[in-house]
Amino acid sequence: MSKKVLILPGDGIGTEIVAEAVKVLDVLGAEYGLSIEMETAAVGGAGYDAAGTPLPEETLKLAKTADAILLGAVGGPQYENLPRELRPEKGLLGLRSELDLFANLRPAILYPQLADASSLKPEIVAGLDIMIVRELTGGIYFGQPRGIDTLENGERKGYNTLVYTEHEVERIARVAFDTAMKRDRRLCSVDKANVLEVSELWREVVVQVSKDYPDVELSHMYVDNAAMQLVRAPKQFDVMVTTNMFGDILSDTAAMLTGSIGMLPSASLNADGSGMYEPIHGSAPDIAGQNKANPLATILSVAMMLRHSLNQPDHADRIEQAVGQVLDDGLRTADIEAPGMPVVGTSAMGDAVAAALQKQAEAA
Ligand code: NAD
Repeated sequence: MSKKVLILPGDGIGTEIVAEAVKVLDVLGAEYGLSIEMETAAVGGAGYDAAGTPLPEETLKLAKTADAILLGAVGGPQYENLPRELRPEKGLLGLRSELDLFANLRPAILYPQLADASSLKPEIVAGLDIMIVRELTGGIYFGQPRGIDTLENGERKGYNTLVYTEHEVERIARVAFDTAMKRDRRLCSVDKANVLEVSELWREVVVQVSKDYPDVELSHMYVDNAAMQLVRAPKQFDVMVTTNMFGDILSDTAAMLTGSIGMLPSASLNADGSGMYEPIHGSAPDIAGQNKANPLATILSVAMMLRHSLNQPDHADRIEQAVGQVLDDGLRTADIEAPGMPVVGTSAMGDAVAAALQKQAEAA
C-alpha cells in the first residue's frame, strides 16, 4: 500500500529546498518503484497568508492522516510583528503538540569531505557521528505554572516550571535505547541530578528502562560536563538522551561542530512512529529566492523519513550514498564552499543528487 507524505514547504528558502527533496523522491519512485502519495499544504507564514492562521485546519487534517510530514522551514521578517498566536512558529509548535511528536532525533554527522568546515580541529571531529535524542513536548518549555507576575512591592517576577512525569521520561528513554540498539549501543543520559529533583527522577526512570536493554551501555553525565565534552572530545558519544531545554542547547552545539547548518536533518516522532522531518535550519530570509540555499539537509531529512517512518531503510541508504557521492565529486553550495571546488546553486545540487541516485539504479 502506498504511504502518504504531507509536504509542507513553509516560508523563505523552504519552497526551494523542499522542491529538491521532492525530486529525490520522484527518482526513487521512477527507478525503484517507491510508491508514495504526496500532498502539499501551507504552514507558518504561508498558512497565515493563505488562511489567516499559521496552522490552517486543512493542513492539520492532512497532517493527522499522513504517515510522515516533510517540512521546509517557517518564518520571515514580514511576520515578526503579528500577534504571538499568529506567528509562523506557532504552526510548528501546533503540529508538534497536536501530533504528540515527543521524540526529536538530531544527528550531528560530519562528512569526511567537509572536515575543514568545522571550527574544531579536523582530528577532533573527523568521522563524528552523534545522535541526540531530545524530549520535545514536555519539560520547562511547557510546564505550568508559568508567567510574569507583579509582586506586592511592585517588582516583577518571571517563572517557569521544569516538570517531567515518569511516563514522559520512560517513552523518550525507550526511543533512545531503541536508537542505540541500531547504532553503536552506547547511550549517555544527560541531566542535572546533582541539583534538580526532576533530574533525579529522570535518572531513576532511565536506569529502570535500561534493564530491558542489557546490550546497551548506559552512562550518565551532568549537562554542564556534557556541554564541555561535546567541544573537547565529541567522538566519545554515540547516542545522547536529554530533556527539552538541555537538548535544545546541546543539539545546536553538536550541529555547529559539523560546520554547516545546511547539512543537518532532524526527525520528530510520536509513539506510532509517524513523524515530521525537517532540516535543522530556519527559513534563511537573507538568501531566500536566490537559488543559494543548500538543499542537502532537507534531502537527508527524506532519508530519515524513509528509515524511521516509512520502513524503507534501503532507500534511505541510497540517498545518503548519493549525497556522499556529490560531495566526493566536489560540488558545494555557498555555505560549504571550499577552495578549488565549484559553488553550485540549490537546484543544481538537487539535480546532482537525483543524478547520482539514477546512476546507482543503472549500476544495480
Ligand atoms: P536560519 O537558520 O534561517 O539562518 C541562519 C543563517 O544560516 C543565515 O545566514 C542563513 O542564510 C544560513 N542558512 C540557513 N539555512 C541554510 C541553507 N540551507 N543553506 C545555506 N545557508 C543557510 O536562522 P535565522 O536567520 O535565525 O532565522 C530566520 C527565520 O527562520 C526566522 O523567522 C526564524 O524564526 C525561522 N526559523 C525557523 C526554524 C524552523 O522552521 N524549524 C528554525 C530556526 C529559525
